[in-house]
Amino acid sequence: MSNQTLNLTPALYDYLLKTSSRETDLLKELRLETANDPMARMQIAPEQGQFMHLLVKLMRATRIVEVGTFTGYSSLVMAQAMPDEGTMVCCDVSEEWTNIAKRYWKSAGVEEKIKLTLAPAIDTLNGLLVEGQARTFDLAFIDADKENYDAYYESCLRLMRPGGLILIDNTLWGGDVADPVIQDVDTKAIRALNAKLLTDKRIELSHLPMADGLTLCMKK
Ligand code: CA
Repeated sequence: MSNQTLNLTPALYDYLLKTSSRETDLLKELRLETANDPMARMQIAPEQGQFMHLLVKLMRATRIVEVGTFTGYSSLVMAQAMPDEGTMVCCDVSEEWTNIAKRYWKSAGVEEKIKLTLAPAIDTLNGLLVEGQARTFDLAFIDADKENYDAYYESCLRLMRPGGLILIDNTLWGGDVADPVIQDVDTKAIRALNAKLLTDKRIELSHLPMADGLTLCMKK
């Protein structure tokens, strides 16, 4: 099949950012602070953050759930796109990383919108379902341990209202998903979810080759 996607060379990527990135000083500061962490690659790309900001605005989302907060870049861009009454549930297990996130939420004045729960995300998501919050969320962002992606997806799908959107990160996984030789647990989990989503009649689907692959699933 012919490839209709541009090869994003370093020069072209620089051009893309120079001509379209509206990353704020605060977001840039967070990006640079996180760059010192050995796990910095877990931070989303700036153009992806800007895209997610736009999606939140487009959807007029006021109820968001995030699975995997890390140092807070994605939650910060999304929280800033929500109106004052907007609320976000953030799931993570790392106090160290989310302490950085908290500092930036405060600086941006969005900390009131965000409820962080430090616990296995599946417990937090199931807790929301038990509380009767199924079909009440507008948007979910899944960007945590890949082995549990399918479980996160299923719980988030139940939490979304019809028309709600689930964003799933790293769905091209550095290209590993397309290499059948690679059979580690994470790659297999992402590959299996990608295959499942293709025929999942509960959603509308679009898989974007942005950053490390971003899949959009709109609940029907
Ligand atoms: Ca990610």
